[in-house]
Amino acid sequence: MQKPRRVLLKLSGESLAAGSGHGIDDARLAAYAQEIAQEAARGCQIGIVIGGGNIFRGMSGAARGFDRTTGDQMGMLATVINALALGSALKAIGCKAIVYTAIRMEPVARLYSSHEAIEKLEEGYVALFAGGTGNPFFTTDTASALRAVEIKADYLLKGTRVDGIYTADPERDPTATRFDKITFDEVYTRNLKVMDLTAMTLCKENNLPIMVFDMDTPGNLSKLLGGDPIGTLVHN
Ligand code: UDP
Repeated sequence: MQKPRRVLLKLSGESLAAGSGHGIDDARLAAYAQEIAQEAARGCQIGIVIGGGNIFRGMSGAARGFDRTTGDQMGMLATVINALALGSALKAIGCKAIVYTAIRMEPVARLYSSHEAIEKLEEGYVALFAGGTGNPFFTTDTASALRAVEIKADYLLKGTRVDGIYTADPERDPTATRFDKITFDEVYTRNLKVMDLTAMTLCKENNLPIMVFDMDTPGNLSKLLGGDPIGTLVHN
Protein backbone atom coordinates (compact mmCIF):
# COMPACT_ATOMS: atom_id res chain seq x y z
CA MET A 1 0.00 0.00 0.00
CA GLN A 2 1.36 3.44 -0.92
CA LYS A 3 1.54 5.97 1.90
CA PRO A 4 -1.92 7.55 1.98
CA ARG A 5 -2.67 11.21 2.59
CA ARG A 6 -6.25 10.53 3.65
CA VAL A 7 -7.99 7.34 4.76
CA LEU A 8 -11.37 6.24 5.97
CA LEU A 9 -11.01 3.77 8.81
CA LYS A 10 -13.93 1.42 9.42
CA LEU A 11 -14.08 -0.07 12.89
CA SER A 12 -16.68 -2.62 13.89
CA GLY A 13 -18.72 -1.98 16.99
CA GLU A 14 -18.07 -5.54 18.08
CA SER A 15 -14.32 -5.00 18.30
CA LEU A 16 -14.93 -2.06 20.65
CA ALA A 17 -16.45 -4.57 23.07
CA ALA A 18 -13.22 -6.63 22.97
CA GLY A 19 -13.76 -10.12 24.45
CA SER A 20 -17.05 -9.41 26.19
CA GLY A 21 -19.03 -9.03 22.94
CA HIS A 22 -21.18 -6.26 24.38
CA GLY A 23 -20.73 -2.63 25.37
CA ILE A 24 -17.51 -0.63 25.31
CA ASP A 25 -14.27 -2.01 26.67
CA ASP A 26 -12.24 0.84 28.20
CA ALA A 27 -8.85 -0.68 27.40
CA ARG A 28 -9.78 -1.35 23.76
CA LEU A 29 -11.21 2.18 23.40
CA ALA A 30 -8.02 3.70 24.82
CA ALA A 31 -5.84 1.52 22.58
CA TYR A 32 -7.75 2.55 19.46
CA ALA A 33 -7.61 6.22 20.45
CA GLN A 34 -3.86 6.03 21.08
CA GLU A 35 -3.10 4.49 17.69
CA ILE A 36 -5.39 6.80 15.76
CA ALA A 37 -4.06 9.90 17.55
CA GLN A 38 -0.48 8.85 16.81
CA GLU A 39 -1.13 8.43 13.09
CA ALA A 40 -3.06 11.71 12.92
CA ALA A 41 -0.12 13.45 14.61
CA ARG A 42 2.14 11.95 11.92
CA GLY A 43 0.05 13.76 9.33
CA CYS A 44 -2.37 11.15 8.04
CA GLN A 45 -5.88 12.55 7.59
CA ILE A 46 -8.25 10.07 9.22
CA GLY A 47 -12.02 9.78 8.87
CA ILE A 48 -13.71 7.08 10.92
CA VAL A 49 -16.93 5.12 10.61
CA ILE A 50 -17.70 2.89 13.53
CA GLY A 51 -20.35 0.19 13.72
CA GLY A 52 -22.88 -0.42 16.45
CA GLY A 53 -22.98 -4.20 16.71
CA ASN A 54 -21.66 -4.11 20.29
CA ILE A 55 -24.88 -2.33 21.31
CA PHE A 56 -27.65 -3.09 18.82
CA ARG A 57 -28.13 -4.53 15.33
CA GLY A 58 -31.30 -3.96 13.35
CA MET A 59 -31.48 -7.55 12.11
CA SER A 60 -31.35 -9.01 15.61
CA GLY A 61 -33.98 -6.45 16.67
CA ALA A 62 -36.21 -7.63 13.82
CA ALA A 63 -35.69 -11.22 14.95
CA ARG A 64 -36.95 -10.17 18.39
CA GLY A 65 -40.08 -8.65 16.93
CA PHE A 66 -39.07 -5.02 16.32
CA ASP A 67 -40.13 -3.44 13.08
CA ARG A 68 -36.98 -3.57 10.86
CA THR A 69 -36.88 0.19 10.25
CA THR A 70 -37.15 0.90 13.97
CA GLY A 71 -34.49 -1.72 14.69
CA ASP A 72 -32.17 -0.15 12.14
CA GLN A 73 -32.76 3.29 13.63
CA MET A 74 -31.79 1.86 17.01
CA GLY A 75 -28.67 0.41 15.39
CA MET A 76 -27.78 3.79 13.89
CA LEU A 77 -28.15 5.42 17.30
CA ALA A 78 -25.80 2.75 18.69
CA THR A 79 -23.12 3.92 16.24
CA VAL A 80 -23.56 7.46 17.60
CA ILE A 81 -22.81 6.22 21.13
CA ASN A 82 -19.64 4.51 19.89
CA ALA A 83 -18.50 7.53 17.88
CA LEU A 84 -19.04 9.83 20.86
CA ALA A 85 -17.00 7.45 23.01
CA LEU A 86 -14.12 7.29 20.54
CA GLY A 87 -14.25 11.04 19.86
CA SER A 88 -14.11 11.70 23.58
CA ALA A 89 -11.22 9.25 24.08
CA LEU A 90 -9.29 11.01 21.29
CA LYS A 91 -9.88 14.46 22.78
CA ALA A 92 -8.84 13.19 26.22
CA ILE A 93 -5.35 12.48 24.88
CA GLY A 94 -5.05 15.81 23.09
CA CYS A 95 -6.11 14.77 19.60
CA LYS A 96 -8.47 17.14 17.77
CA ALA A 97 -11.61 15.20 16.89
CA ILE A 98 -15.06 16.07 15.60
CA VAL A 99 -18.15 13.87 15.47
CA TYR A 100 -20.70 14.19 12.67
CA THR A 101 -24.05 12.46 12.50
CA ALA A 102 -25.90 11.43 9.34
CA ILE A 103 -29.16 12.61 10.86
CA ARG A 104 -29.69 15.94 12.59
CA MET A 105 -29.18 15.65 16.35
CA GLU A 106 -27.48 18.80 17.53
CA PRO A 107 -26.25 19.51 20.17
CA VAL A 108 -25.02 15.91 20.44
CA ALA A 109 -22.89 16.30 17.30
CA ARG A 110 -22.80 18.28 14.07
CA LEU A 111 -24.88 17.34 11.06
CA TYR A 112 -22.59 15.72 8.47
CA SER A 113 -21.34 17.80 5.58
CA SER A 114 -18.65 16.35 3.34
CA HIS A 115 -17.28 19.82 2.54
CA GLU A 116 -16.94 20.77 6.18
CA ALA A 117 -15.49 17.37 7.06
CA ILE A 118 -12.80 17.71 4.37
CA GLU A 119 -11.89 21.16 5.74
CA LYS A 120 -11.61 19.74 9.24
CA LEU A 121 -9.48 16.81 8.04
CA GLU A 122 -7.16 19.29 6.34
CA GLU A 123 -6.93 21.20 9.63
CA GLY A 124 -5.74 18.02 11.33
CA TYR A 125 -8.94 16.87 12.97
CA VAL A 126 -9.92 13.23 13.11
CA ALA A 127 -13.50 13.19 11.75
CA LEU A 128 -15.92 10.57 13.06
CA PHE A 129 -18.98 9.84 10.93
CA ALA A 130 -21.78 8.46 13.08
CA GLY A 131 -25.30 7.29 12.36
CA GLY A 132 -24.34 5.14 9.38
CA THR A 133 -25.83 6.41 6.14
CA GLY A 134 -28.89 7.68 8.01
CA ASN A 135 -31.07 5.11 6.22
CA PRO A 136 -32.44 1.76 7.35
CA PHE A 137 -31.54 -1.40 5.37
CA PHE A 138 -27.92 -0.27 5.07
CA THR A 139 -24.86 -1.15 7.11
CA THR A 140 -21.91 0.74 8.50
CA ASP A 141 -19.77 -1.04 5.87
CA THR A 142 -21.80 0.77 3.24
CA ALA A 143 -21.63 3.99 5.27
CA SER A 144 -17.85 3.68 5.37
CA ALA A 145 -17.66 3.15 1.59
CA LEU A 146 -19.94 6.15 1.04
CA ARG A 147 -18.05 8.47 3.38
CA ALA A 148 -14.72 7.30 1.98
CA VAL A 149 -15.82 8.21 -1.54
CA GLU A 150 -17.29 11.53 -0.37
CA ILE A 151 -14.18 12.67 1.49
CA LYS A 152 -11.99 11.45 -1.41
CA ALA A 153 -10.03 9.01 0.75
CA ASP A 154 -7.10 7.21 -0.85
CA TYR A 155 -8.08 3.94 0.85
CA LEU A 156 -10.88 2.44 2.86
CA LEU A 157 -9.19 0.64 5.74
CA LYS A 158 -11.42 -2.08 7.07
CA GLY A 159 -10.27 -3.03 10.56
CA THR A 160 -11.30 -6.56 11.49
CA ARG A 161 -10.15 -9.26 13.89
CA VAL A 162 -8.68 -11.30 11.01
CA ASP A 163 -5.46 -10.23 9.30
CA GLY A 164 -6.86 -10.14 5.77
CA ILE A 165 -8.93 -12.05 3.24
CA TYR A 166 -8.54 -15.82 3.08
CA THR A 167 -9.54 -18.46 0.55
CA ALA A 168 -11.91 -19.78 3.24
CA ASP A 169 -12.78 -18.85 6.83
CA PRO A 170 -9.43 -19.27 8.64
CA GLU A 171 -11.22 -19.73 11.97
CA ARG A 172 -12.88 -22.88 10.55
CA ASP A 173 -10.58 -24.14 7.80
CA PRO A 174 -6.90 -24.61 8.77
CA THR A 175 -5.88 -24.99 5.10
CA ALA A 176 -7.15 -21.48 4.23
CA THR A 177 -4.51 -19.15 2.80
CA ARG A 178 -4.38 -15.37 2.84
CA PHE A 179 -4.36 -13.13 -0.23
CA ASP A 180 -1.90 -10.21 -0.29
CA LYS A 181 -4.12 -8.60 -2.87
CA ILE A 182 -7.21 -9.54 -4.81
CA THR A 183 -9.46 -7.84 -7.37
CA PHE A 184 -13.05 -6.87 -6.68
CA ASP A 185 -14.14 -9.25 -9.46
CA GLU A 186 -12.36 -12.17 -7.81
CA VAL A 187 -13.98 -11.37 -4.48
CA TYR A 188 -17.37 -11.58 -6.24
CA THR A 189 -16.65 -14.77 -8.18
CA ARG A 190 -15.19 -16.57 -5.15
CA ASN A 191 -18.10 -15.30 -3.04
CA LEU A 192 -15.72 -14.10 -0.33
CA LYS A 193 -17.18 -12.23 2.63
CA VAL A 194 -15.24 -8.98 2.78
CA MET A 195 -17.89 -6.32 3.13
CA ASP A 196 -21.53 -6.42 2.08
CA LEU A 197 -22.14 -6.22 -1.66
CA THR A 198 -23.52 -2.67 -1.58
CA ALA A 199 -20.32 -1.45 0.07
CA MET A 200 -18.11 -3.47 -2.28
CA THR A 201 -19.88 -2.19 -5.38
CA LEU A 202 -19.64 1.43 -4.25
CA CYS A 203 -15.88 0.99 -3.80
CA LYS A 204 -15.42 -0.84 -7.11
CA GLU A 205 -17.41 1.71 -9.13
CA ASN A 206 -15.50 4.60 -7.58
CA ASN A 207 -12.13 2.88 -7.88
CA LEU A 208 -11.56 3.05 -4.14
CA PRO A 209 -9.19 0.33 -2.90
CA ILE A 210 -10.04 -1.46 0.34
CA MET A 211 -7.39 -2.66 2.74
CA VAL A 212 -8.60 -5.37 5.11
CA PHE A 213 -6.38 -5.75 8.16
CA ASP A 214 -6.33 -6.84 11.80
CA MET A 215 -6.98 -3.72 13.86
CA ASP A 216 -7.03 -5.57 17.15
CA THR A 217 -3.29 -6.19 17.22
CA PRO A 218 -1.70 -3.05 18.69
CA GLY A 219 0.65 -1.28 16.28
CA ASN A 220 -0.99 -2.61 13.11
CA LEU A 221 -2.49 0.69 12.01
CA SER A 222 0.91 2.29 12.23
CA LYS A 223 2.54 -0.61 10.34
CA LEU A 224 -0.08 -0.42 7.62
CA LEU A 225 0.22 3.34 7.14
CA GLY A 226 3.99 2.98 7.22
CA GLY A 227 3.78 0.64 4.21
CA ASP A 228 4.34 -2.74 5.89
CA PRO A 229 2.82 -5.60 3.87
CA ILE A 230 0.08 -6.60 6.29
CA GLY A 231 -3.56 -7.23 5.37
CA THR A 232 -5.18 -7.79 1.99
CA LEU A 233 -5.66 -5.09 -0.65
CA VAL A 234 -8.84 -5.24 -2.76
CA HIS A 235 -8.50 -3.31 -6.00
CA ASN A 236 -9.86 -3.03 -9.55
N1 UDP B 1 -27.55 0.74 10.32
C1 UDP B 1 -28.52 1.22 9.43
N2 UDP B 1 -28.12 2.03 8.40
C2 UDP B 1 -26.83 2.37 8.19
C3 UDP B 1 -25.85 1.85 9.06
C4 UDP B 1 -26.24 1.05 10.13
O1 UDP B 1 -29.69 0.95 9.59
O2 UDP B 1 -26.54 3.11 7.23
C5 UDP B 1 -27.98 -0.04 11.51
C6 UDP B 1 -28.21 -1.51 11.22
O3 UDP B 1 -29.35 -1.89 11.97
C7 UDP B 1 -26.97 -2.18 11.77
C8 UDP B 1 -26.63 -1.30 12.95
O4 UDP B 1 -26.98 0.01 12.51
O5 UDP B 1 -27.25 -3.50 12.20
C9 UDP B 1 -25.20 -1.34 13.40
O6 UDP B 1 -24.34 -1.28 12.30
P1 UDP B 1 -23.46 -2.54 11.82
O7 UDP B 1 -24.21 -3.81 12.05
O8 UDP B 1 -22.99 -2.26 10.46
O9 UDP B 1 -22.32 -2.45 12.88
P2 UDP B 1 -21.03 -3.41 13.07
O10 UDP B 1 -21.45 -4.82 12.68
O11 UDP B 1 -19.96 -2.90 12.15
O12 UDP B 1 -20.69 -3.25 14.52
